[in-house]
Amino acid sequence: EDVVNRMAAGEVLARPCNAIKELVENSLDAGATEIMVNVQSAGLKSLQVTDNGKGIDREDFELVCERFATSKLHKFEDLMHMKTYGFRGEALASLSHVAKVNIVSKRATDNCAYQGNFLDGKLVAPTRPSAGRTGTCITASDLFYNLPTRRNKMAAHGEESKAIYDMLTVVPLSLESAALKFKFTGNVSKPVASATAKLAQQRKSNRSFFSVFINGRSVRCDILKHPIDEVLQTRGLFCQFCSLHLEIDETRIDVNVHPTKSSVIFLEKEEIIGEIRAYFEKVVTEIFG
Ligand code: ADP
Ligand code: MG
Repeated sequence: EDVVNRMAAGEVLARPCNAIKELVENSLDAGATEIMVNVQSAGLKSLQVTDNGKGIDREDFELVCERFATSKLHKFEDLMHMKTYGFRGEALASLSHVAKVNIVSKRATDNCAYQGNFLDGKLVAPTRPSAGRTGTCITASDLFYNLPTRRNKMAAHGEESKAIYDMLTVVPLSLESAALKFKFTGNVSKPVASATAKLAQQRKSNRSFFSVFINGRSVRCDILKHPIDEVLQTRGLFCQFCSLHLEIDETRIDVNVHPTKSSVIFLEKEEIIGEIRAYFEKVVTEIFG
């Protein structure tokens, strides 16, 4: 059974950057205003996300790494109006099947923090009191220790660092609250002063930057690149930096197509693309004639 769970988990969390994205989204869901990410050896040795969010109730420690344990979805209708990033209760469970997970968490009303270690969906020993400020710190160590082929393959490639770096670059763009502090430390292939520095650098280069956020969530949506490029090309323009922030009625999209929720399906694809194209055309005409 563990092997099956491990394989499934390995698909949900195919790469260290998927795990980091899930942890950061959990912090945002918990109302955090400060999030720190620490990555060692491209996330394979350890990846850690610390937040000052609302914390996890001590009673819930037993459950957090259990599959389909989510505190965010209460009834079916909620699925249509999700305002949180998570709702499947799959991320922490998956993580505990491919890494050694430690959680330290304190709610504002608790006298002290509690911590627990998790393996294969289960708390390995009873939670115990620990030092810690209000919020949650989740550490995943030895990622893919039980999937040695994958681990070796990744250890040999510097690509993982880059993928983490790229993913963390878009996170600050998606944050609605300017007050949110987002800090990224650890050893990656390139020294990172801050994610915004990377963006500034990208603007200067010839490579174009394209990112899409739908209802505040960073998603891959390359089909939108085409209509935008087309509108610009007819005027001899080229887009070097594009960050699209779209508000789309939840009933018109399906974010649930992929477990990592990083892709979306438009339920009325042609109409939505048409609307975006028309709007973009209008804006570009206003600016460039
Ligand atoms: P989901 O986000 O889909 O609910 P996860 O597996 O990502 O599922 O998380 C499981 C549950 O653990 C969440 O529903 C939430 O109750 C709790 N949790 C996870 N991370 C945090 C965090 N940083 N702060 C507070 N609660 C958290
Ligand atoms: Mg989640």
